[in-house]
Amino acid sequence: MRNGKIALIAHDARKDALVEWVGDHVTQLHEFSIFATGTTGGRIQNAYPQLFVTCVKSGPLGGDQQIGAMIAEGMLDGLIFFVDPLSPLPHDVDVKALTRLATVYDLPMANSASTANAVLAYLVSSK
Ligand code: PGA
Repeated sequence: MRNGKIALIAHDARKDALVEWVGDHVTQLHEFSIFATGTTGGRIQNAYPQLFVTCVKSGPLGGDQQIGAMIAEGMLDGLIFFVDPLSPLPHDVDVKALTRLATVYDLPMANSASTANAVLAYLVSSK
């Protein structure tokens, strides 16, 4: 039985940073069901096969919207979304829609390593 459900997403330029962050928190994340966009989830699962990762579609192919739908359905406890603030993205509207839904539903959301530390600590302490 997992203790919570958390979504992990990273844009290409931030995937290494997210995989590194996951590596720093494997013990805590092992207690969560992890949902991730396709490429991000594949990277995490390859690096840490002991984690419980469910992949949705790749972000630009609808994965961001699938995670957004999970937020709207109340299925997630937190969102860790390492966005690339320096590159234009073809699916920027999906990114905005996802972060907007996280705000609408007051879902704890982090966009960087330090805020991800804070969100994960909150989720672990509120179990
Ligand atoms: P990806 O999607 O994990 O499939 O690369 C992330 C995104 O770009 O939203």
